[in-house]
Amino acid sequence: MRMVDILEKKAQREVLTTEEIRFAVNGFVDGTVPDYQMSALLMAILLNGMNEREGADLVDVMMHSGDLVDLSDLPGVKVDKHSTGGIGDTTTLVIAPLVAACGGTVAKMSGRGLSFTGGTLDKLEAIPGTCIEQPIESFKQIVRKTGLAIVGQTGNLVPADKKMYALRDVTATVASIPLIAASIMSKKLAAGTDAIVLDVKTGSGAFLKTPEESAKLARIMVRMGVQMGRKVTAVISDMNQPLGMAVGNALEVREAVQILLGQIPKTDRLYSMCMTLATEMLLAAQIADDEKQAVQMLEKALTSGAGIQKLREMIGAMGGDASCLTLDGMDRLCSVRRRIPVNAPKDGYITEMIADHIGTAAQLLGAGRAKKSDSIDPAVGLVMQKRIGDAVTAGEPLAVLYVNDEQNLAQAQQVLLNAVTISDTPAQPVPLVYDIIRD
Ligand code: URA
Ligand code: CA
Repeated sequence: MRMVDILEKKAQREVLTTEEIRFAVNGFVDGTVPDYQMSALLMAILLNGMNEREGADLVDVMMHSGDLVDLSDLPGVKVDKHSTGGIGDTTTLVIAPLVAACGGTVAKMSGRGLSFTGGTLDKLEAIPGTCIEQPIESFKQIVRKTGLAIVGQTGNLVPADKKMYALRDVTATVASIPLIAASIMSKKLAAGTDAIVLDVKTGSGAFLKTPEESAKLARIMVRMGVQMGRKVTAVISDMNQPLGMAVGNALEVREAVQILLGQIPKTDRLYSMCMTLATEMLLAAQIADDEKQAVQMLEKALTSGAGIQKLREMIGAMGGDASCLTLDGMDRLCSVRRRIPVNAPKDGYITEMIADHIGTAAQLLGAGRAKKSDSIDPAVGLVMQKRIGDAVTAGEPLAVLYVNDEQNLAQAQQVLLNAVTISDTPAQPVPLVYDIIRD
C-alpha cells in the first residue's frame, strides 16, 4: 500500500477502505508516514469529508493507537462528561460533584485546554496543592473513595490524536467534522467510561458556528460511541456568549462553588446548563428513571450541601486545600491588585457578544496561554456584568477585569469593548439548549 494512492483517492472524493485508514494513521504514529503526507490527507478529509464507516474506522484506529484505561474494577456505571469547549464553561466542577453526590461514579480524564482560556485542569490547579497528575491506580483509588476524580490524561492515551491535532492546528484542518468527532471520541473511548455525556457547543465561541453543524457533529459522535458499546448522549448548547459570568481560573472555580453553595439563582444560564448536563448523566448512568427524578435528586444534593462536600472530598484526596472551597476562601483566591470596570460607551441593549474575543481579553490579562509554554495567573480574568438581551446605560459596567499585570491591560479593555455589541433595539433571546440527542 502506498500513501500517495490513498491521497489520490481522497482527493478524488472516493471512500477509503478500513485498511487504508489504518495504514495512514498507524504509519503516521510510527513515523513511516511523514508529516507532509498526513497534512495532505487531513486537508483532503477537511475538503471532501468522510462517510460514517470511514469515521468509525478512524476513531477505532486512533483509539487503539495507545493505552486503554480499564475502569471495569470500579463499582457502578462509570460516567464522563465532555464539552467541545467554550468560554466561561465551568460546568464540570459543578456537575461532577453533584452526580457523585447522587450515587454516580464520575471518572474523568481531562486534556489541557486546546484554546486560549484555561481548561478544567487549570481551574483545579487554581486551588492550592491540587495535583492533577495522578497515576492510574491513585486516580482509581480517589474514585473508589469519593465517587469522583478529575485528572490529567495519564499514560500514553491516543498518541495518534496528539500527533494529528498538532498537525491540524498548523494546517488549518481543525474545523473538519469527522476529524473533530474522531479526535474527541477516540480520547473519550480510550478513557474507559461506560457512559459519556457530550456538551456540543455552537456559536461565536465554538469550533462550529451553527446549530446545524453542531448537531451533525453530535450525531456522528453519538454513533461512534454506540458502535463501541457505550451509552452516549449529546446536548447541543449555545456558545454565543460566555456560559457563566466569570472567565478566568480561580474566578470560574468561585462561580462553581457559588452554585454548589446555592448562591446563584435557578434562572442563571450556567446553573441551568449544569442541571441539564447532570440530568443526562444520571439518566445515562441509569441512576434516575426520568428527568423529573433526576432534577429532584440534583436539587437535593445542592440544598443538603452534599455536592459541595463531594468537591471538597475530591480536592482533599488530590492533595488540595479543600478549606478554600467556601465563599470567603474563594474570594481570597480571586484577590488581585486591581479590579477595573469596562463601561458601556452608550445606552442600548446588548445584542451580540463574540465569546471567543471575551476569552482573548481574559487571556491577555494572564488567564490563559497564547503558547503552550506560557504560565497562567490563577486569580486574573474577568467577570461579565451583562448578558445578551440586557439593557445598559452609558457608563454602566459591562465587565470587571481582575488584573495583576497591567502590561496588556489597554488591549484587553479594547478587545472586550469590541466583543460586545450595543444596539438601539433588543435582540431575540438565544436559546441555551438547542437539542438533546440520546442514543
Ligand atoms: N476537541 C478535541 O479534542 N479535538 C478536536 O479536534 C476539537 C476539539
Ligand atoms: Ca432530540
